[in-house]
Amino acid sequence: EELRRSAKEYRAESEESYHDDCRSNDSDDDYEELSDQQIIENGRKWMSEEVMIAFKKYTENCADQTGLDYQFGELLHQCLNVENYYKTFHHFNFTMKMKDPTSSGWRVELYFAEIMQMFGKKHYFCCPLESLEDGHCYGCKNQGVNDLKHPATGGFDQGCPASTFPYM
Ligand SMILES: [Zn+2]
Repeated sequence: EELRRSAKEYRAESEESYHDDCRSNDSDDDYEELSDQQIIENGRKWMSEEVMIAFKKYTENCADQTGLDYQFGELLHQCLNVENYYKTFHHFNFTMKMKDPTSSGWRVELYFAEIMQMFGKKHYFCCPLESLEDGHCYGCKNQGVNDLKHPATGGFDQGCPASTFPYM
């Protein structure tokens, strides 16, 4: 349900990128032509691509990640926070499968990513999470997304205590 809601929101926000998928030219009817399943898959694909961008930016800045093999694991939680017309931030928990060149087994690691959109520009933040790490975030808490874990060390937008959703 969570994923589906957000997929719809994102679809509405980024109409252009979805036009390829739509058979109708009548934009108001486009939505009806996609099944719920397609919407979930579109949303998942879009979000997976976004967190991979964040992850790659993270590895580029992180010397001890070089030479690692990695694969996207799965998207666990996500929460979109709309602060105002000019600023949204989207938090994600996802897993990556990692492998050292010297080892034969893959290990699964938990990551946090933030994609912030401010004045039309995207900013990415990504970092690994320890299993018990649980930093505070007003944005996700206000929306009841309590399972989403945040870095205890910060580095992301925590929102503000009063923010509610949806912003109108
Ligand atoms: Zn959050």
